[in-house]
Amino acid sequence: MTVDRDARTRLRALCDKAAEGPWFVEHGARADGLSRVDDGRQHGLYSFYCEAHEAAFIAASREAVPELLDMVDAQAKDVDIWKDKAKFRLARAERAEAALQAWLDLGLGCTCKPDSGCAAAIVREQTIAVLAEVPK
Ligand SMILES: [Zn+2]
Repeated sequence: MTVDRDARTRLRALCDKAAEGPWFVEHGARADGLSRVDDGRQHGLYSFYCEAHEAAFIAASREAVPELLDMVDAQAKDVDIWKDKAKFRLARAERAEAALQAWLDLGLGCTCKPDSGCAAAIVREQTIAVLAEVPK
């Protein structure tokens, strides 16, 4: 699964609208054992109660989600850079392949077997082997 740019923008907008925090949890704040999540704006005024594990998750997410979004954004930039590099290298490899194939097609006048020790025959066989590896 990837978090596309639109999804990240929507999540960041949600983060930006939420109270800056830091949010905190007061475990077992209520008589029934529920924990209080507070958004940190004004102690006790903007808070709600829920199970301890949910309170911990909600409070932590206020800082964790923007951090994760920053990490995803940074990695998306890296992916874009590597895509550009891959595109450039693929184009270069395709040009090199075409040049090698043209060189082979010209025929070099050498009909020696590769095991004869003739350098032209060895290079020709190596080139054919490399071209055979390139997926079409
Ligand atoms: Zn030869």
